Amino acid sequence: MGRSSETNTNINNNVVEEKRVGVVGGGRTYVCTMTGPFGMEMHHWNRIWLSTAHILGFHGWYMIALGSVPRSVLALFFPLGYFAGMGITVGCHRYWAHRTFKATFPLQVLLMYAQTMAAQYPIFKWCRDHRIHHKYTETSADPHNASRGFWFAHVGWLLERMDPAVQEKEATLDLTDLDNDPVVRFQTKYYWPLLVLSMYLVPIWIFHSVFGSLGVYELVCVNYAMYISTLHITWLVNSAAHLWGSKPYDKGIYASENGLVALLAVGEGWHNYHHVYPQDYKAAELGAYGRNWSALFIDTFAALGMAYDLKTVAPHVVRARVKRTGDVKLHDELLGNQDEGDAECESEDDDEGTRLPPWGWGDPDIPLKHLAVTQTLRQSKAA
Ligand SMILES: [Zn+2]
Ligand SMILES: [Zn+2]
Repeated sequence: MGRSSETNTNINNNVVEEKRVGVVGGGRTYVCTMTGPFGMEMHHWNRIWLSTAHILGFHGWYMIALGSVPRSVLALFFPLGYFAGMGITVGCHRYWAHRTFKATFPLQVLLMYAQTMAAQYPIFKWCRDHRIHHKYTETSADPHNASRGFWFAHVGWLLERMDPAVQEKEATLDLTDLDNDPVVRFQTKYYWPLLVLSMYLVPIWIFHSVFGSLGVYELVCVNYAMYISTLHITWLVNSAAHLWGSKPYDKGIYASENGLVALLAVGEGWHNYHHVYPQDYKAAELGAYGRNWSALFIDTFAALGMAYDLKTVAPHVVRARVKRTGDVKLHDELLGNQDEGDAECESEDDDEGTRLPPWGWGDPDIPLKHLAVTQTLRQSKAA
């Protein structure tokens, strides 16, 4: 606060280039230039990167299907793929982007490593894209605007030049917490060596240790086969879970409850709820672990004392919201008809209608009502 001169942040390594240009109204304004490696625009770089990954990845799947690579490699896809996935769902999404819980330093480092392994941009850029997605969902300022159809929301947004409205609105976004986060800064600064280590060297070494007969090319293709699988599962949250499914909590938004996406994306498919209450660490109303392994992961680390201050919303509050903006019948079906009687009707804040949707816990746009109804589980002693 109070700094007003033009300064450059050091949080760049040619992947994310941020230029702090001043202070407006006590907040900071960013100019976001989308520069990829070798000075390329990001969408040009993404075309090369994703094309290469898909050619080699599909060849990997082809060899697995034919049996020229042992099909038992799939047994390693699940632990390795889901470890990387937890870096996205628990780390990038629920911890850094939405601040739904707090984590000890060792857990932050673990999540940062897993997130790097998933190779879906550095945490800083991933979270910036995601916060703007929540605040401007289905508008031209939404990076993966689902109103432009499945292909654009799924992957097209990475292959085209970004809409200027995204950069314009991102310039108003408060990213102070990420800018000041030492783990995020470390990852951004050393992104490329960390990526080579976590995405290539370690998993390929693990595949080689278990399947020593595989040659280098086969190992690389198998690793890319796993990579593109985790990519498409993540992308389904932006595409399928915004286009298909039920809307028990808010009928007025695209985001939907999609059980299949929740199953594949370890709990990230309960998207209608998530867009209504992005501060909830479960990203779903129910804590059932069957289709929410990410909640299981957080609860497990909470039991170990490494995750704490878990944010959630009381069922009677959710129920009242359902009555106000959602569909009671669909909600009954989702919960197995557990009507809790006449919930006190959740009222809107006076200014809720004029606020933008919040990106999560810590966003000044979060309605006062949300602050009042959000519960904190496993509170830290200092709280
Ligand atoms: Zn989200
Ligand atoms: Zn969404």
